[in-house]
Amino acid sequence: MNDDTYRKVARRSAVSRYNGRWKGFRLATATTAQVKLHNRHQVLDYIYRHHGSSKQDIMRDLDMSLPTITQNLRDLEAEGLIQRGGLFKSTGGRKPQRYVFNSQARLSIGVRMTAKQIIVCAVNLRGACVKRASGRLPYAHSAAYYHRICQFVNQFIDSLGVPSRTILGVSFCMQGIVSSDGQSITFGEILGNTGLTTDTFSREIDYPCTFIHDSDASAMTELWLDPKIDNALCVYLEPYMGGAIIIDGRLRQGSSMRNGTIEHMTLVKDGAVCYCGRKGCLDAYCSARVLTQNREESLEEFFNQVRDDEYTHRRVFNIYLDNLALAIKNMRTVLNCDVIVGGQAGQYFTNDDMADLKARVQRLDSFPDCEFTIRKSACTTDQDVLGAALTFVERFIDEVCGR
Ligand SMILES: [Zn+2]
Repeated sequence: MNDDTYRKVARRSAVSRYNGRWKGFRLATATTAQVKLHNRHQVLDYIYRHHGSSKQDIMRDLDMSLPTITQNLRDLEAEGLIQRGGLFKSTGGRKPQRYVFNSQARLSIGVRMTAKQIIVCAVNLRGACVKRASGRLPYAHSAAYYHRICQFVNQFIDSLGVPSRTILGVSFCMQGIVSSDGQSITFGEILGNTGLTTDTFSREIDYPCTFIHDSDASAMTELWLDPKIDNALCVYLEPYMGGAIIIDGRLRQGSSMRNGTIEHMTLVKDGAVCYCGRKGCLDAYCSARVLTQNREESLEEFFNQVRDDEYTHRRVFNIYLDNLALAIKNMRTVLNCDVIVGGQAGQYFTNDDMADLKARVQRLDSFPDCEFTIRKSACTTDQDVLGAALTFVERFIDEVCGR
């Protein structure tokens, strides 16, 4: 997290303090146990937001007594959630002890199964990937395949060499729509796995297992890396495209987890056939594979040709941008907010492409004063795998820091 992150989150907690409510109970009526828990949350939250804090820092900023801080630091250190991180420079007198959050106190596992391979990442409590593994394992909706996935994940977790209580859980980012409890696939036409449940994995993996839609997972990483995002439409131009919705700084998946499933927005009536069985869906026009279909080339090769102004490639990209602009124009009539573009194709977009796309959207817009920000996604490696793992991290941090 950067300093802006801290400021933003600090602003939010300042608001909740001002309201005099802590998670639903009022200050005046809080029991001793609640006050104790609140103090503990405050101390840990403070240390999490800062890269090294002294007792004096905490005392000054949290308005808490020294004995209370000392007791909480002792407890949190005993539980392994914080560590001593050397000494601060002396400002006269004894050098103050520096306390830091132990980002390795827990790890979360993100998994991605694609048509050709499996990718597994371990993510710490700061959202950093501490270990990654991948293997060639063609997807098959079969017991034998899932058994091999479980073996792969279990071997990966063993290789981390940490006590089992360190692992928060295993989160699978899926090319499909996930049930609201994250336990089953309600629409898995791409890989033919509709009906798959986490039980298939929980039978062999001794940690909580959950599913998350891959676009939502990518948006989780987006938010984690840039918590300043308030409202945004995320558009992921993956081989099978997808979208996600961020409102008030949170991923909003909707009651049936189908917010932002822009891939099935009808762009052309009776148009090209989509894998969902209908015609004219956006996926058939704006997924990354549209750019390379019918040609034996990679996306990198495609964009090299575009940059060289090769006629056919330029033309394909031109039509692609027109379709994408129309889709974004339509999306923005429902949610009038900023747009983030990412995914395997999006990562090749230049600043000029983004400006071009924005101009196309503005030309289509019904309102002449249409102004918005369109920008590229973080486009980090394994963005969706990390985002999947972050679901457990976020939940844990929310819990231990009383957010
Ligand atoms: Zn469709």
